[in-house]
Amino acid sequence: MAPIDTTKTASKPHEVVIIGSGPAGHTAAIYLARANLSPVLFEGLLANGFAPGGQLTTTTDVENFPGFPDGIRGSEIMEKFRAQSVRFGTTIHTETISKVDLSSRPFKFWREGQEDQEPELTKTIIFATGAKARRMNLPGEETYWQSGISACAVCDGAVPIFRNRPLAVVGGGDSAAEEATYLTKYGSHVYVLVRRDELRASKIMAQRLLSHPKVTVLFNTIPVEAKGDGELLNAVRTKDTKTGEEKDLEVSGLFYAIGHEPATALVKGQVDLDEDGYIITQPGTSYTSVKGVFAAGDVQDKRYRQAITSAGTGCIAALEAERLLAEEESL
Ligand code: FAD
Ligand code: NDP
Repeated sequence: MAPIDTTKTASKPHEVVIIGSGPAGHTAAIYLARANLSPVLFEGLLANGFAPGGQLTTTTDVENFPGFPDGIRGSEIMEKFRAQSVRFGTTIHTETISKVDLSSRPFKFWREGQEDQEPELTKTIIFATGAKARRMNLPGEETYWQSGISACAVCDGAVPIFRNRPLAVVGGGDSAAEEATYLTKYGSHVYVLVRRDELRASKIMAQRLLSHPKVTVLFNTIPVEAKGDGELLNAVRTKDTKTGEEKDLEVSGLFYAIGHEPATALVKGQVDLDEDGYIITQPGTSYTSVKGVFAAGDVQDKRYRQAITSAGTGCIAALEAERLLAEEESL
């Protein structure tokens, strides 16, 4: 009798599985469902620390997503994304995918808690697992998170509490340079707190930052406490990393720009990642280093990190997965 091949399973492969439930995952699902490809979307059970719906479920008003001229609550817009996915026939599971095997097609994947069972199969897979901004966990951070402290200047910079007030950005990379420059449109002055005696940002961005009349770069400086009146932030306690001297810096906003962590543990070693752990996609596409594996949203974008750009790349991933499946069908 021939030995049993344990690499084969009886289950029929899905056409396409989407992992992740932010704007990228749901946009991909909407397009694939409307193309009659019966997408299956795993929205996660507190995967990467986020509720289903992703990062936007952690914010208040989203004011820059087109189509909502009065703004919309972050959790409400994600409920709408989900409802639209379901309306066209997406199957959604509130579960986390804990393991994938991308070494051959159809790809294998396992739900959390079912790793010892037979894998499920899929012909194509879209990774839309998102990313998470690094936080500092300062004393006072929980109290003033989204009440003065933010990790996204482009998302939150325009809100009234920051208008014509002094603001601070932590970090010395390109994000910090870009965010600080952006905040000069709204704040009266922007302090950039850099922990070393030099910026990590590219030369041109660093130069632009250092020469900006509304920016002061404070080298060898870190924040050590967020202070306020209990409702809104009004100062940051800073520490000189060389002398240890501490003082209060009066600011109404503290913006973290100390990097993001993409949710790529699942695919590490199986698809090409860049030096910061982001999935590498071919420019202008969602193609990864593995045929049939697509990536969309913040998991492959360290530069823009917006809901609308995530949705846009989710659309691209859906169209590219659809095209691949159609080509293979016609062979
Ligand atoms: P995410 O939103 O990161 O969602 C990914 C989802 O996938 C999560 O729910 C996660 O749990 C799930 N997941 C991860 N791993 C797995 C797994 N293994 N199995 C199953 N599920 C998994 N952008 C704007 O354009 N405008 C704004 O006003 C704005 N405000 C923001 C405010 C805050 C506080 C934050 C944190 C971000 C904000 N952003 C804003 C940025 C925006 O939220 C992100 O760019 C966008 O959500 C990224 O979408 P995404 O689809 O890549 O994934
Ligand atoms: P980076 O990792 O490049 O920079 C993070 C910065 O935060 C560094 O200056 C780092 O300090 C500092 N930092 C990290 N942890 C702490 C901490 N606990 N306390 C204080 N400071 C801290 O992240 P970015 O998000 O800036 O950039 C990520 C990538 O995206 C880069 O490749 C960048 O070039 C790219 N990017 C490009 C843009 C553009 O070209 N327009 C815009 C935005 C990003 P230290 O230097 O000491 O490590």
